[in-house]
Formats: sequence, structure tokens, C-alpha cells
Amino acid sequence: MNVTPRMIQFGKPIIGDDEKQLVWSVLESGLLVHGPHIKEFEASFAAFTGAQQAVGVANCTAGLHLCYFAFGIGPGDEVIVPAMTHTATAHAPELVGARVRFVDVDRTTGNIAVDALEAAIGPQTRAISVVHFLGLPADMPRIIELARRHGLKVIEDCALAVGSRIGDRHCGLWGDAGCFSFYPVKHLTTAEGGMVISRDADLAARIRHVRAFGIDRHQLERTIPGEYDVTALGFNYRMSEVHAALGIVQMRRLPYFLERRKQNYERLLNALRELSEIELLEMPAPHVVHSHYCLSVVLKPELSSKRYEIIRDLNRSGVGTSIYYPKPVPHLRYYREKYRLPENAFPNAARIAYQSIALSVGPHLGPEDMDYTAEMLKTAIWRNRV
Ligand SMILES: *Cc1c(COP(=O)(O)O)cnc(C)c1O
Repeated sequence: MNVTPRMIQFGKPIIGDDEKQLVWSVLESGLLVHGPHIKEFEASFAAFTGAQQAVGVANCTAGLHLCYFAFGIGPGDEVIVPAMTHTATAHAPELVGARVRFVDVDRTTGNIAVDALEAAIGPQTRAISVVHFLGLPADMPRIIELARRHGLKVIEDCALAVGSRIGDRHCGLWGDAGCFSFYPVKHLTTAEGGMVISRDADLAARIRHVRAFGIDRHQLERTIPGEYDVTALGFNYRMSEVHAALGIVQMRRLPYFLERRKQNYERLLNALRELSEIELLEMPAPHVVHSHYCLSVVLKPELSSKRYEIIRDLNRSGVGTSIYYPKPVPHLRYYREKYRLPENAFPNAARIAYQSIALSVGPHLGPEDMDYTAEMLKTAIWRNRV
């Protein structure tokens, strides 16, 4: 077949002149933290999501850590975490000394399996961590109902859920708090950065307080420079003005980013839908809005032993790929050695980890890139058929 080769990077931040100019002006101003840009970025993110409260933080992991800390969750407590996610989702409760209770995910969506979640709730359970897997919203109405019945906190890991909604409520506003990531390959970037959103003003105030050492007043509120007291144990998990400046401009590009992702995703999905060697993680309901982080194809078992060959063929033909995520979290060495759970306890998480290939639908790509990706995947599968 005659197809012109293309180079398709899996993730590529889009940084333009507007970002450069605003970052430059921050650097020129000399006001690198505690300035107006963090406030503007928070306001802009709150407006986009409809959040009453938005708190900028150093990264999503810091945001998750702050939530567990602010809830006073610690040793003796248990937090339920899906087995298929980024390691940060599990690290955050571990960092406050809580134990993680892993639950398998749903086979068709990759989101936490709600029946298994209910069965995992025990006397020590204090919170449920929900991940919107690859931007596909989890079944929040059911999870919130469960949490209410058992008196549990709900923390949403929204690292890949910018623009994800159920009905008109944005992900992160169903539970007690939602944490977003602005790492370079995510929906928008501040290089490193994160945001915690919430409907709860008291929680947001506590997070703001412990985000900056537990100091009793903001720098601008000090009448005598350098004079302050510390009223709580805290971190330095602030976001700088330089990072916030990037975020302000990226927010203006966000509607375009999300639209491009959606169009790319639909085009790639249509091109792959009839491919009998793969399965796709599907949308659960029509009133649910997906953020289209990537399109993850799950190879059928007979082909999964050839996954690395297929990935190498794709990469050789210029199609960048990734794996979300490379192991179920309980299979990662730290968690394997700490919890010693049976290897086969999370079959749906294992299927995604060991049989899937993530294809990019990022805003740096267009329709021809999607057609090329689909063609190259078909070719690679054909070459490695068993
Ligand atoms: C990327 C990611 C994180 C970590 O985000 P950072 O901003 O790098 O801390 C956490 N959870 C999920 C689901 C992620 O994909």
C-alpha cells in the first residue's frame, strides 16, 4: 500500500507566543510567587469547571496528598483505590500513613467496579478514591450514594478528566474534592502543576493553609514584612507565578484542545471499530462527556503475546504510542511487597495493563494522522497475526 510516512508523537504540548510573552512578563516583573497570576488561573479554572473553589498546587500528586492530609486521614485508616491507575492515586493515601485497599476495575470502561467497591468497604474505610480512567467519567451518582450511606469521603483523581462531565456537572465536583494535573502531555500544561477543585469552602481554605507551610496569613496580609505565625503542620506545595502564567494562556486554548481531541478520537474510533482483533473501552451513557485523553485499544488474548512486536512496528512506522498504565498498581514492586496480594486478584486491571496500546488523539494531531494511525495499526496487526 502507498501511504506517505508520518511522524506522530504520542504527546506534545502546544506552547505559543502568548505563553512565551506572559511568562516573560512574569520574569521581568520579579514577582515569581504570591502574585496575581495564580489567582487569575484559579478563577479561570473555576469558571471553566463551574467549581466554587479552585486551589492551584505544585502538581496533581501534591493536590491528592493535600486532600488526604486536610481530611485528617492517616494511620489506621483505609482508602479504596482502583487497581488500574497512575501510581500517584495510591501513593497519596500511603503518604499520610493510610492503607490502600485495591479494587478491580470494570472490564468495559476501566473505571472502578462499583459492586466490588461496595464489597470492599470495611470498618477502617475512610475514603474512596475515584479515577476517571483516560477521561471517561466513573459512575459518580452510584459512588456518591454509597459513600453517603457509609459516611466516606470521595476524592476524585481528575488528572485526565479536564472537560469530563456527567450531565452538566464537571468531574471533581461530585465528590468532596477533585485533583487535576497539568503535566506536559495532559489536556493543558503548566510544565508541572495541578489544581484542586471543590464545592466546600472550608476544605479549600484548609488546603490553601497547608499548601503554604500552615502559615497563618498570606504574604500580602502581613502588616510587618516577615512577621507571621504557623498554626498547622504544612507543606510547600504552591504553584509559582511562572507556572500560573502558562496556565492562564492554556485555558484560553482549552476549548480548541478539547474539540480537536474529540474529533480525532471519533475519527480513529470509526476507523478501528470493525477491527475484530481489538476491543475498545466504551462510553457508558449518552449524557456523559469524555475528555478523550487517548484511545486505548485492548488486544484480544490470542494477539496479546505479540503486543511488543505490534508496538515496535507502530513506532517504526512513525506512530508514537504509550501504555496506560503499565501494571495494575498492586503489581508494582512497592505495593506487591507491602500488600502481597494474589497476582490474579485484578483480572480486568491486568487485561488493560498487559494487553492494551494507547494511541494518541492529542490536539497536535489532525485527521490525516488518525487515518495513518489506523492504517499502521491494521498493518502491524496483520504482520503479527497468529
Ligand atoms: C498523571 C497522573 C497523575 C499525576 O499527576 P502529576 O501532576 O504528575 O502529579 C495522577 N493520577 C493520574 C490518573 C494521572 O494520569
